[in-house]
Amino acid sequence: MSKPLIDRLCCRSGWSGQLRRVLATAFVVICVQKLNSRVVTRISRNPFLTCLSFVLVALLLMPVEVVFVNEANVFVYHRFNDSRYPSTNITTESFKDHLETLKVEHFTVLALGEVVDRMRAGESLPQRCAVISVDDGYLSFLTDGWPLLKQYGYPATLFVSTDTVGGSDFMNWQDLLILQEECVEIGNHSASHAYLLDRFPAENESEWRSRVAEDLVRSQALFQRHLGTSPRLFAYPYGEFATELTGLIREAGFVAAFGQQSGVIADGQDIHTLPRFPVGGSYSALREFRSRLFMKSLPVKFDHHQDTVINHENPPTLKFYLNSKIFDERTLKCFAQGGAGCLLEEGMGESLAITTLR
Ligand SMILES: [Zn+2]
Repeated sequence: MSKPLIDRLCCRSGWSGQLRRVLATAFVVICVQKLNSRVVTRISRNPFLTCLSFVLVALLLMPVEVVFVNEANVFVYHRFNDSRYPSTNITTESFKDHLETLKVEHFTVLALGEVVDRMRAGESLPQRCAVISVDDGYLSFLTDGWPLLKQYGYPATLFVSTDTVGGSDFMNWQDLLILQEECVEIGNHSASHAYLLDRFPAENESEWRSRVAEDLVRSQALFQRHLGTSPRLFAYPYGEFATELTGLIREAGFVAAFGQQSGVIADGQDIHTLPRFPVGGSYSALREFRSRLFMKSLPVKFDHHQDTVINHENPPTLKFYLNSKIFDERTLKCFAQGGAGCLLEEGMGESLAITTLR
């Protein structure tokens, strides 16, 4: 049951599943014994009834409980109904289409903190789980985004850069306090919204670490002072992260952190580099939204740690493994930047090794 349904399903194999299987088998045996032999003969002569009885028996013998892998499709928005910046904006009509789709398709919309808490506690997420997150704290979220979310009764997680709070085009602390009271979850998006991976000229490693750590401490203190609490979640400015930065975020006490790389959040991922689907410009079209909303995670294993920053080998060679039991490798398509393509190595047991060609 788990394999034909490709990458989505797995069967519960505990004692309750086994017990149900045994009971179902016993039920079928008793039913067959009780059947009048004339009826059995009639069924066996009728191809349709024969097929139907096989299907019914197969259904009964299948594992009864089917559970889904813990996953959440998280979206990141920036501006609402603000046509001055089309690439990071979504119109009211399009945003409403997104929310209506979530409702019609029976998605449960959670705040990011709840998704993180459930994953950390090993608890399950709803079968169809989505999250609306919003970066930067633009005023248009207060005026055009949040009112729509309230209409639908959906929560939101807002990542704020503290240096811009109260600036032109941005919400002030009073606005944020109101949103917090209305149960908008507030996350940290740094103080400066700088390209945190970049070093200043002549800045050494230790100086860079101190500068970033100070940025985080400063922003957390401002949240504490103005909102009475400091965030547990962090969103990397511009979605950029690397090992050293992730380490600083961990050390600062954030329980989870998010980029802007496309992907579905799933069990087993690094909780400080979780993906989100960016929405804005042409990516805000309903078709694009639906395609990302129904995407599923694909577990990937690396040979060794792969950092996100290219230092020496450029372009880099990337090698990773996919579990060939959870998808049909004939359907695999791999696209490397520049069209170099990928090399697929088979015969790796249950895995396929994919190497991007340089
Ligand atoms: Zn940002």
